Amino acid sequence: MSEFKTVRGMRDFLPEEAKMMRYVEAQARRVAELYGYKEIITPVVESYELLSAKAGEEVRSRMFVFKDLGGRGVALRPEFTASVARLVATTLRNEPRPFRLFSVGSIYRYDEPQRGRYREIWQSNYELMGSSKPEADAEILMLTNSLMEAVGPKKIAFKVGHVGVLRGLFNQERLEDKVQNAVMQLMDKKQYEDAFKLVEGAGASEKCMAILRELVKLKGKNVGGVVDKIEDRVKGYEKSVEAAKNLREALELVSESGCKIEMTVDAGFARGLEYYTGLIFEVYVPSMDFALAGGGRYDKLIELFGGEPTPAVGVAHGIDRIMLAMQTQGSVHKIGGERKVVVIPIKEELRGEALKVSQVLRNTGIFVEVEVMGRKMAKALEDADRRKMDFAVIVGERELKEGAVMLRDLARREQSIVKIKKIAQVVKD
Ligand code: AMP
Repeated sequence: MSEFKTVRGMRDFLPEEAKMMRYVEAQARRVAELYGYKEIITPVVESYELLSAKAGEEVRSRMFVFKDLGGRGVALRPEFTASVARLVATTLRNEPRPFRLFSVGSIYRYDEPQRGRYREIWQSNYELMGSSKPEADAEILMLTNSLMEAVGPKKIAFKVGHVGVLRGLFNQERLEDKVQNAVMQLMDKKQYEDAFKLVEGAGASEKCMAILRELVKLKGKNVGGVVDKIEDRVKGYEKSVEAAKNLREALELVSESGCKIEMTVDAGFARGLEYYTGLIFEVYVPSMDFALAGGGRYDKLIELFGGEPTPAVGVAHGIDRIMLAMQTQGSVHKIGGERKVVVIPIKEELRGEALKVSQVLRNTGIFVEVEVMGRKMAKALEDADRRKMDFAVIVGERELKEGAVMLRDLARREQSIVKIKKIAQVVKD
């Protein structure tokens, strides 16, 4: 039989990585609580129709699609937003606005596997429903910053833009939605020349083309200055001017909040997902050329799924890439750090007693492993050292009669007889 391997693009998380992943997830959940986002759990499998409705060609073409045994066209979710939008359009239809939803889990995309790019992706996802105000956009930027600060990637920088600037131009030039979407996809991949050709071919004016060529060069850390220039360049395109104003307002609010976010405004920035309507952003660290998180405003999606008109803004954080950044930058926090104890009976007849002592210790909150290999004391202690246990509890008859055991500090190589009920105190000191 051939050796089994994981399917291409899929990974195992061994204990250390699994622990780190759950740590990031726990921090994400904590940030959700701190900002008032309620957790929901939605299915990994959704109808293909739902998932493909507004994701954009790029994501659509990379979905894991199949028919279930009942012949239904289904797919593995390539993102959380469609599922959340489905809920908001149906079960949560009458929920008083605003409301905030949080999800964490895996999504699936048939991306080309490489460092930082997988086919099973772990994300934490936050959606703020019901507000069209820039303070809602500001909140999403701030909570993303809070999560990054909590888990540790250093020197993070936000790239920010506004879909409305380009859409404003294209709509006034009467470009069809299909063309607009294709242009945005190309711009997302920085294939500007191809994007320009498409716009020109669709009949855009010379004025529009000139603005477009200037916009893609407009970027910089002087956030206010860049937004002023954008507003100035798009004069005559009313919706684009409005978009620039809206971007300014959201960024000013972040600044007023005191939240120190390093930002670059990029006028030519577009994102692959089609449903964005307003501010969009991504988060980067200097040593990596892929985004750790991405999000933005999508005001029309809920309606598209048959719900009440509900403006919304959200973000997805890529947990795999956050972990990579932490590992690459050496900023892995000491995760856990609990004292661990191994319980070893000195002879076979005391196995039951060892199990009993281990239960007593666990009930006091100590992390306990029991010797289950039937090894002699010296071997069991050697193994405990190898696995970096902190203490060994040696269960012997004589001590048990006194309600005690031998407690060995494995680092100091010292041991003494300690009453079982006192062990928690010694171990935790
Ligand atoms: P998106 O839903 O495309 O905005 O993605 C949000 C975040 O998920 C990105 O910024 C990445 O951190 C992460 N992500 C997306 N695709 C992948 C992938 N193929 N592998 C690893 N992380 C990914």
